[in-house]
Parts: sequence; structure tokens; C-alpha cells
Amino acid sequence: MTISSQDPAVAASLERELTREKDGLEMIPSENFVSEAVLEALGSVTTNKYAEGYPGKRYYGGCQFVDEIETLAIERAKLLFGAEHVNVQPLSGAPANLAAYSAVLKPGDTVLGMDLSHGGHLTHGHPVTFMAGIYTFIRYKTATDGSLDYDNLRAMALEHKPKLILVGYSAYSREIDYAKVKAIADEVGALTMADIAHIAGLIAGGEMINPVPLFDLVTTTTHKTLRGPRGGMIMCKAALAKAVDKAVFPGLQGGPHMNVIAAKAIAFGEALKPEFKEYARQIKLNAKVLEEELKKTGFRIMFGHTENHLLLIDVTGKGVTGKEAQLALDAAGITVNKNAIPDDPRGPMDPSGIRLGTPALTTRGMKEAEMRQIAVWIDRAITAHADPAALAAIHAEVTELARRFPIYQELNYQK
Ligand SMILES: *Cc1c(COP(=O)(O)O)cnc(C)c1O
Repeated sequence: MTISSQDPAVAASLERELTREKDGLEMIPSENFVSEAVLEALGSVTTNKYAEGYPGKRYYGGCQFVDEIETLAIERAKLLFGAEHVNVQPLSGAPANLAAYSAVLKPGDTVLGMDLSHGGHLTHGHPVTFMAGIYTFIRYKTATDGSLDYDNLRAMALEHKPKLILVGYSAYSREIDYAKVKAIADEVGALTMADIAHIAGLIAGGEMINPVPLFDLVTTTTHKTLRGPRGGMIMCKAALAKAVDKAVFPGLQGGPHMNVIAAKAIAFGEALKPEFKEYARQIKLNAKVLEEELKKTGFRIMFGHTENHLLLIDVTGKGVTGKEAQLALDAAGITVNKNAIPDDPRGPMDPSGIRLGTPALTTRGMKEAEMRQIAVWIDRAITAHADPAALAAIHAEVTELARRFPIYQELNYQK
């Protein structure tokens, strides 16, 4: 590596981050560990290239090889999800959503989306976002049994006549009945959009229902369960292809990040392999074991149970807040994030819950036995949240387990 000789300060921080990732248990459900091939593509010469436009229709010369790369990424994504049209240029999940909205909506149009505290994402109309100022978002919630409240969704759709009905989530642990949502949308003449940012890998692996054949628009990130580089993607029906492409470029973005698109192509290639199906299956299995073990120790799992890779847990019954639980787990080497629970009486900086998931641990090869052990540590750490010595003792055990499941063995930013 040349970073260490040229810039020791950055190299030292990179090395510390590498060690943190190797020695801890990464349980933030939106995180993962990409392959070394994906890392290599991110650091490739394609970062040098300007390629505004689309394959075969660029505004710059010298695009023949990046055209090959973007075409590969598009064709693989189409195959993976059965999409009619794919745009791989969105820089991340939030810009992909903004582009999808702007492709089909006019300012002031109404969108029906999921409430943030019930698992929706900020970009689904939270008042703090830019898009909330442009479009009129109405937000629906989950039912008390944890399922989506489809009757209420239909009633709201009939009342508000939205132009777009949006489903998808960041903290919800259940399956969505896309056919039901599509029927409601058809009844009121709305378009359908699914944001599968969190669950794209589970869908690609055949472990969750795929909305792509049914819905008008499907947006996703590529870096969560899909295990690719940090980025976004939009899939849509052929009839919307032109509008979506125009919305991304020139509507909202300039030159696409070709190094990221190369990495996306590689990640999609990995997701098309049979091993990825096994990976997706194990992610869900691990989440289920974790849920069962945590329930046994008295934790309250929101939405009833998990049908994907994540758990939203109310920790207040254990005498701690979400922030205190996150801090205790951090001190024990287990990384999670504090998170609001539905209609949380507490504020967003110190909510009632934590959110955790299994995609990154599963990438390391951990299975049911490790999940059982981790559930014990989570309970011990939260119970001992005010005891630094007890947390340090758990941390030592956590590091020992993590090192038995090595990642990035060849990487070294100090050489
Ligand atoms: C993560 C996420 C996003 C945003 O993705 P970024 O890459 O962080 O911009 C959008 N929607 C959902 C549902 C997400 O979970």
C-alpha cells in the first residue's frame, strides 16, 4: 500500500477501522462486509473517468470500457430481480428515492408512505427532509399485531387519493403483502413504489417476496444485505424507463461514479451465484435464533417477530434506554444502533429501542451456535450497563469469538 508512506495519518486511522471491523461484532442491520473483489473495484482506475449519460449515449469520449462495465451491472441486476429496466447510477439510497419521486411526481403531489417510528425511512416523508417540503406525504402505520394495517392503508388511500403508494422500511421486521398494496393502488389509480434498501439481498437470494415484477418502481441501496458497494439503484417498468433515467441524469446528478458501478457489477455477479442463496437463508435463520434467545431472556421484540434479517427491540423493560443499551453494547464490542419503537414516547436521541441484525455476522460465517452465545452477551451487557469491568470482560470474550471468524486477512494499511 502507498497510503502508509504517503499519508501516515490517514493510514493509521484506516488501520484502526480495519481492526475495529475485525475484532468486534457488527450488528447494525444496514451494514455488511463486501468481498475483496468489490473493494478492489472501488479503488480501480474507473474512478478517474467522466461518463455523463448512459451506455452508448455519453457526453464524453473514451467511454467504451466503462460502457461495458455499466452494461454488465445493468444486465446482472435485471437478471437478479427480473426487472424490465434498471438504472445503476444513483449515488445512494436517499438520492435514488428522490430521483424516483421526481420521475413520476409533480411538486405538491401526495404520497402515502410508512411512518418513521413504525419502521419507515426518513426519505419516506419525514418532515426534516427536503422531499417533505416538495411533496405531500401522508404516513400509515403498523397494526398492533405487527403486520401492516392494510385496511387502514386502503382507507387512507381512498381518503387522500395519493399519486404514489410507497412501501419499504429500515426498522420493520415483517414481510409485506405487495399484491394487497398493488390492489389498493389500482383501486385509487396510484402508482406503486417499493424501497427494498434493507432486504434486497434477501429478495435476490429468494428468501423474501420480490416486488419487482408487480410494482412500478423499486429502489434499493446496494450496500446492505445485497453486500455491494455503498450506492443506490432504481428498477422500474419499461414504460417509466425514460422518466427514471432523465430524473437521475441530468435531473439530479452529474457524472456517475464508475468505480462504484464496477463494484456493483461484481456484487451482482456474486449475488447471482448459488452460494448467495445459502447466505440469504442463513441470515434469516440467524435472526430467528437471536430472536428466540432474546425473547427467552425477557426482551420485548417489536412487530411480534422477525421475518427478515433484523430485530427491533424495546429495551426499557430491562431498565435502560436505547442510548444506554447502545453504549453498553459498544463497550462490550457489539455494535448496534439505538432506534425508536412505534409511537415512541421517548425522543430520537435517546429512544426506547435498539435495532440489530445478522447480515454482517453471517458474512463472517457465524451460525446458530454463535447467535445463541451473542444473545447471552447482549443480555449480560445490558444488565451490567453501569459496570465497566463487566463490560470489558464481555468485550474480551467477544474479540476472541470475532477472531475465530476472520475477514480481510490480506489487508494491511500500515505496510
Ligand atoms: C438505508 C435506506 C435508505 C437510504 O440509503 P442511503 O444509502 O443511506 O442514502 C433509503 N431507504 C431505506 C428503506 C433505507 O433503509
